[in-house]
Amino acid sequence: MKIETKLVHAGEPRPRIAGAITLPVFQSSTYEAREELDYHDVRYARLNNTPNHIALHEKLAALENAEAALVTASGMAAITTSVLTVLGQGDHVLAQDCLYGGTHDFFSRDLADFGIEHDFIDATDPESWPAKCQPTTRAIYVETMTNPTLQVADLRAVVAFARERGLASMIDNTFATPINFRPAELGFDLSLHSGTKYLNGHSDIVAGAVIGRRPLLERVKRRLDHLGATLDPHACFLLHRGLKSLALRIRQQNDSAQRLAERLERHPAIDRVNYPGLASHAGHARARELFDGCGGMLSFELAGGSRAAHGFVRALRLAIFAPSLGGPETLVTLPALTSHAGLAPEARARLGITDALVRVSVGIESFDDLAQDVEHALERAQ
Ligand code: PLP
Repeated sequence: MKIETKLVHAGEPRPRIAGAITLPVFQSSTYEAREELDYHDVRYARLNNTPNHIALHEKLAALENAEAALVTASGMAAITTSVLTVLGQGDHVLAQDCLYGGTHDFFSRDLADFGIEHDFIDATDPESWPAKCQPTTRAIYVETMTNPTLQVADLRAVVAFARERGLASMIDNTFATPINFRPAELGFDLSLHSGTKYLNGHSDIVAGAVIGRRPLLERVKRRLDHLGATLDPHACFLLHRGLKSLALRIRQQNDSAQRLAERLERHPAIDRVNYPGLASHAGHARARELFDGCGGMLSFELAGGSRAAHGFVRALRLAIFAPSLGGPETLVTLPALTSHAGLAPEARARLGITDALVRVSVGIESFDDLAQDVEHALERAQ
């Protein structure tokens, strides 16, 4: 089946429950026990095994052509549970240096409390990785496209390096989604998602997913059963409903972001546009080789500096100044003030996050209306 068909049909119960075309919400915390079972097989909502969980697990695994999947209470629950499964006391992990803020903080502030060490790496420069590797290194962790400059790591080299050294390869695939990139096809062991974003796609739930090799997924599930960061059945239902339109939404977002990036690149009020679909982006060749589309996220730097960036967001009439991403509405943020406010100014400068940088999560509105709103706000920002 093609991915559009899998979105609709993979994982759906056969026969359909009471003939229902849409899988109903099983709003039951516990289930009748028919026989003596292992603790992890008891039907109980925290153990991630209600009919709503099972259908989602099958659908998500099918979408990335992976062996298994698991939904979690948030993207951070997917990340922390997976990291705390793959790594234990005395272990070391290599992580990309420009990760999503919450993940970056988890690595730099929390992991030491579990006896786990880390080193940040430039994920576009494989030659620099061996020097950072230690005898205790067990995993390498990257994102498909990073926030907010859309850096594209050398993903083939990450998988090869992990294989050579027996490390687990982990990737946050939130920005790409299975429509644009399927990590298991390249050989990644675990793909992680904030389902809050594109997978659900409606800005109305918080959710996460772990997708990958079955033996690893079984270990992640056991840890999740104990940590308890389970996605509740009603949120499962909403995620399931949102997923069915993923391909339609992502293709529109790929297209609108590409067109907007091209238009912004020619605009005199703009110094630089970060979008992997542009030939001027450092990750362009890699994105074209590996991805089926470059996604709905882009960022740009205003020539007028911080004042112009603030003026721009104030002048928007359609796009909304708000955190998060991946929903139907276009959302705009100033990363230096929001997602990356916790970083020292020098660290932000090193990552290309200036006070004049604006990040856009392109929604599914008409491109013409969106482009008009952005161009109007740019005029007003001068
Ligand atoms: N990964 C990425 C790339 C994100 O952008 C986010 C949230 O913004 C997360 C993970 C965390 O997801 P959640 O907010 O669902 O916990």
